[in-house]
Amino acid sequence: MPNPPFIVGNWKMHGLSEAVSVAEEIARESRKSTARLAICPPATLLSRLSEALKDAPHIELGGQDCHYEAQGAFTGDISATMLKDAGAGLVLLGHSERRHGHKEPCSQVALKVKAALKAGLEPMICIGETLSERESGRTHEVLRRQLRDSLPAELEGQRFHVSYEPVWAIGTGLIATDDQIRDAFALIGKVLDKRFQGHVVPHLLYGGSVKPDNAQHLLSLEGVGGLLVGGASLKAPDFLSIIRSADQA
Ligand code: PEP
Repeated sequence: MPNPPFIVGNWKMHGLSEAVSVAEEIARESRKSTARLAICPPATLLSRLSEALKDAPHIELGGQDCHYEAQGAFTGDISATMLKDAGAGLVLLGHSERRHGHKEPCSQVALKVKAALKAGLEPMICIGETLSERESGRTHEVLRRQLRDSLPAELEGQRFHVSYEPVWAIGTGLIATDDQIRDAFALIGKVLDKRFQGHVVPHLLYGGSVKPDNAQHLLSLEGVGGLLVGGASLKAPDFLSIIRSADQA
């Protein structure tokens, strides 16, 4: 049986107490969905959502980042173990807002992946090229390097996910063309197959300005096994519409 599409909402640094009711609405209205579903709220809401959604096991919860140590003197950071303890089952790692905004190198992403595995979280590793890298014809080189250096050998045989998110498409309303997506997914699939020799990852996701009106088309593209949704996951009607697209894909 093929894997159902995986639809993941990344709330980024959005969401106060009222957002619990958004997650509850998403959970209520998606009960019959056949897709795999997850929400990655800010860490401050993880425990609250975990409690609020305890009767909605079809909605998984994830962290948006973690430290590579389990504990210690790292003011302001949060560990994979803490995310797990707060109710997360997965964690986004290497999101472009971490790689670029916080200058996180691939080597640090790889350490975080190891920490996530150790804590029992499924890592979702984000990769993607900037506009200048694409325009200078370096997309393949960048994706290959990010895959090589952000994915540690410990992933062999483990459940993990890779999300292709062109940096220039995140939060901009720009979307990669079908050919650009097919090309990137073919490359990622080839690199992962070679690296993990047939231990294919459960899902390769696309992210970057996914909206209700393009979700179904994106999911129809060869190799796209899910969507990582930022802005459009903050409003229940939009995220639910994307979930419905996945049910029809
Ligand atoms: C993201 O947060 O990973 C993302 C792709 O954001 P947006 O959907 O808003 O472009």
